[in-house]
Amino acid sequence: MLELRAVTKKYGHKTALNALSLDIQPAEFVVIFGPAGAGKSTTLNLIAGITDPTSGEIMLNGHPMNRVAPENRNMSMVFENYALYSHLSVFENLAFPLRARGMGTPEVKQKVAEIATILQITPFLERKPGFLSGGQRQRVALGRALVRDADVYLLDEPISHLDAKLRHRMRGELKALCQRKEAIVVHVTHDYREAMSLSHRMVVINKGHLMQFGTPDEIYHTPANEFVASFVGEPPMSFIDTRYAQYQGRVALLVSGTETQPVHLPVNGQAAEFLGRAQPKTLRVGVRASDISIERSASAKHDIPAEVYVVETLGHRDIITVKIGAHLVKVVAAPGMNLHVKDTVWVNIGPETYHLFGDEKAIAHPTGKRKPAPVAAPEGV
Ligand code: ADP
Ligand code: MG
Repeated sequence: MLELRAVTKKYGHKTALNALSLDIQPAEFVVIFGPAGAGKSTTLNLIAGITDPTSGEIMLNGHPMNRVAPENRNMSMVFENYALYSHLSVFENLAFPLRARGMGTPEVKQKVAEIATILQITPFLERKPGFLSGGQRQRVALGRALVRDADVYLLDEPISHLDAKLRHRMRGELKALCQRKEAIVVHVTHDYREAMSLSHRMVVINKGHLMQFGTPDEIYHTPANEFVASFVGEPPMSFIDTRYAQYQGRVALLVSGTETQPVHLPVNGQAAEFLGRAQPKTLRVGVRASDISIERSASAKHDIPAEVYVVETLGHRDIITVKIGAHLVKVVAAPGMNLHVKDTVWVNIGPETYHLFGDEKAIAHPTGKRKPAPVAAPEGV
């Protein structure tokens, strides 16, 4: 088990990582996910021992790592900038970590051939890194980390420079390979599909702070806060500013900016009770395009009026942006609805379809039937 206990890293006055605590189980594949500057590389470097924490502790299988030198940690890392040996051939780059551990030439050859096949770099084995494309170099870097056995693999954006098709394939290979190794993998990415399709659990961080640590399903369906909700999913979740109101004798959410022609969103009993008690300063409703739908006429279910603002045709489905008050909300529509800008439509935004956030923290999640999180779909779908 790999544990981080309140690990903080400061560079001068800047806190790159703020009291991060994690427990990573044996053979677990954990993805660290966050935007640029979130502290992802810092976290990996701390685990590897390349940088020392300002405070906090890192434990591997019950042993404190803080004073263990990087080379004695039995961790294998892919660096964001590859860090290949430019004077050595691809073959020798891949062989290096094996020879360094005293492995004999026949076995080295076999191991290098195996990993080269998986990563599709066999044709370049005799070349020097300087003669490879960025994507090829990145696969060599990944190969050099995975070719040897280690307790922990630390992969910093290891497939980010591959084209979409190859990245999709390498994702599958990486997952299969790591499963066979039965080691801990900590993989960094800023691509949520990669994070969701690879990980057992994902760590979402922003500005050095842990936002959520959970399974892809938990992250997608029960985001802990607005940051996680808006950062995971495509198209991004739409948000509607609301405020606490009474409507027809019940607690409701009045959509901000619709005061002249009030639009109220219903609230279920539990959330209503919470709102009555907690009275958060900001109250925002979040909806995923695939959780809501539109109809041409009002019904008991589709009772929120909206105006068509943008129609995007994607072939198998359309993404319609509608306006509710001044808020733009994206919704998936079946092709053939033949919608036009300025058409009036009716949307089903209620407790069964929305996430509710108070002061940016989650209060409620959709109560309706969950659709599977989009883990397997290739990019752009
Ligand atoms: P990520 O990998 O998520 O993009 P990093 O972990 O590289 O982010 O960086 C987190 C923050 O720490 C950033 O604001 C970055 O500028 C800062 N940082 C990282 N390394 C150093 C360093 N060696 N010196 C000063 N600041 C650093
Ligand atoms: Mg980084």
